Amino acid sequence: MTYWLSIVVATPAHSSVAGALTYASERPLLPGSLVRVPLGKREVLGVVWERLPDSGDLLPTQARNVLGELEGLAPLSATWRRLVAFTASYYQRSLGEVALAALPPQLRELTTVQLARRLKRPAAIQSNPPEDTTNLIALSKEQTRAIAEFDADTRPALLFGATGSGKTEVYLRAAAKVLAEDPGAQVLVMVPEINLTPQLQARFEERFAHLGPAQVVSLHSGLTPAQRLKSWLTAHAGQARLVLGTRMAIFASLPKLRLIVVDEEHDPSYKQQEGARYSARDLAVYRAMLESATKEGETDKAAVQCRVLLGSATPSLESWQATVAGRYQRLTMNERIGGAEQQGSLPAVRLVDMNHQPKHCTIAPPLLDAIGQRIARGEQSLIFLNRRGYAPVLACHDCGWKSECPHCSAYRVFHKIDRTLRCHHCGFTERVPRACPSCGNIDIAPVGKGTERLEEHIAELLAGVTRPDGSPLRIARIDADTTRLKGALESQLASVHAREVDVLVGTQMIAKGHDFRHITLVAAINPDSALFSSDFRAPERLFGLLMQAAGRAGRDADHGEASEMWVQTFHPQHPLFGALKKHDYPAFAAQELKEREAAGMSPFGFSALVRAEAREQAVAQGFLNAAAEAAQAQQLPGHEAVTPYPAVPMTIQRVANIERAQMLVESPSRAALQRFLAAWQPVLHQTRQEGDFKSLIRWAIDVDPLAI
Ligand code: ADP
Ligand code: ZN
Ligand code: ZN
Repeated sequence: MTYWLSIVVATPAHSSVAGALTYASERPLLPGSLVRVPLGKREVLGVVWERLPDSGDLLPTQARNVLGELEGLAPLSATWRRLVAFTASYYQRSLGEVALAALPPQLRELTTVQLARRLKRPAAIQSNPPEDTTNLIALSKEQTRAIAEFDADTRPALLFGATGSGKTEVYLRAAAKVLAEDPGAQVLVMVPEINLTPQLQARFEERFAHLGPAQVVSLHSGLTPAQRLKSWLTAHAGQARLVLGTRMAIFASLPKLRLIVVDEEHDPSYKQQEGARYSARDLAVYRAMLESATKEGETDKAAVQCRVLLGSATPSLESWQATVAGRYQRLTMNERIGGAEQQGSLPAVRLVDMNHQPKHCTIAPPLLDAIGQRIARGEQSLIFLNRRGYAPVLACHDCGWKSECPHCSAYRVFHKIDRTLRCHHCGFTERVPRACPSCGNIDIAPVGKGTERLEEHIAELLAGVTRPDGSPLRIARIDADTTRLKGALESQLASVHAREVDVLVGTQMIAKGHDFRHITLVAAINPDSALFSSDFRAPERLFGLLMQAAGRAGRDADHGEASEMWVQTFHPQHPLFGALKKHDYPAFAAQELKEREAAGMSPFGFSALVRAEAREQAVAQGFLNAAAEAAQAQQLPGHEAVTPYPAVPMTIQRVANIERAQMLVESPSRAALQRFLAAWQPVLHQTRQEGDFKSLIRWAIDVDPLAI
């Protein structure tokens, strides 16, 4: 007997079959089964999506046969398939693209036989010895209350907890409870960056040591393909009880998922920036809802619960607003651990009005003094500047030449260490010219400062300062340039922890997540540009970053009272800094949300960007405008509630000789925007085919874009 199956394969994005093709099989394969199928001349991995009715005349006569099943692998669950289908539809990509990208790459390459070798006998889920609770720390009042409130509710929860308030302990307790209640239950813990996984993994492994080694696994792109496959398989088999991962882990196959934790939920790296541009945080909320619905074959049982716990000291305004509206539950922890006995343990924020400082000074004299005092006391300072390299531009003051990138509409950054001009957009790198390429003047000079130059500058400014024991000052820098090599970041962080550094200079990389105990002064040198950015999320990011940076200071109770956060600004009256001074995220959020509501921006309005790339800017824009006109002419579903704006060049208009344009599409209704985008997809394809857009290279839709 022949069965007809709809099988999802990695077809090109936006294919008309939506990624599913019809195949024939001699065996009645279950939906979710992983199979190998022929596609053109290749043999590829596919996921059985559904069985097709065998009503003879509907069947395609050309259907090819399934080549084999990946035996020993249970089918992917209906919930997993629903999550993938939702992602494809919401983010306007093909089902095949999303489904196959959600599986570990090695699974796609392995033959059936190779896989059989990898799959050890699925270990029976053993009943675990109970957790040893004798060594657990006593929870703070706020932690106790947060956990009780979390347990008493079923809504998605936002743990709004100050840096150092002990959020991790709350995650650990929530996970422990779920794991103890059900011997098969699984927990997914997401973190924004791979760098943060080892520390967290160690903490979870230690706490859940009683579960055995195979039961805490990590899933992120820093793993080798083999490690990643192994983690994925143990999660899929239900052996891994706790999966720790970055955004990609949201698609892990977890047959008994009961809790999803999203740490630092505001972090932009939860948004995928290519292919299907999904938000792993938003999908976490959606997945928890799907997992909580009554499962197939479990209809008579009580519906299962999967909770989601988002955590941040500076939540995204989307999540915050959801707590204001009551869709999410808010759990608040204001105090740092140990803070109750030690009033004022959050660092004092000092704004330096740069209008009243010497012209062109990079570090204001009072800040320099303060750093000197820290050094004299044997304490550490962290100076942070969000721009790497030596100087953002090299310029000739005679003829006005600037170090533009020949391939991008951007300047190449001067890196002094290897005397290069490097484009941070396309990577184009050249030796610094000896003289101005335009007029021959040998006096070309760096303009502005990056971290490399700041490090050098601080060394000059602090030249006379010595450490308490008279030994020379130690200045270090951490940014993407100093941490390129594997292990470099770890060793540099270790030397900061070991107090081998007095002044640390760096980019936002060091403002995040790292727990520096001996840093008592944090300074933001030049944060102003974000105040007046065309990107409406820039203030939110700046506030979050400054709060995070402030959180780095004085986490050591010994220094709690004396720690300071310095901010150099030309706009000390800006309300953002007012809220920062009081460490008042709710005030900042209320102010921002009021402005966003008035402007109909997220979370009060919804948007998508269509980006187009072409050899000529006019073609990229022309294509987008033509597609928008076609949408208007055809009165697409949802169009009455959707506003497409004219196409504009992207902020960095040209990268690697490719012109880039984008079109913003807005709607007060998420549903209308979704309807419109779904109907617009085929129109965009058609516009490309029928119009005169030969130099158009590609286009893509970004739903809920983070940067506009
Ligand atoms: P957050 O993630 O909220 O910034 P952490 O979870 O890193 O804070 O906790 C800060 C520090 O406080 C950690 O060193 C942690 O081990 C410690 N800690 C957390 N909860 C408690 C507690 N109840 N009693 C004592 N120390 C705690
Ligand atoms: Zn010149
Ligand atoms: Zn370039």
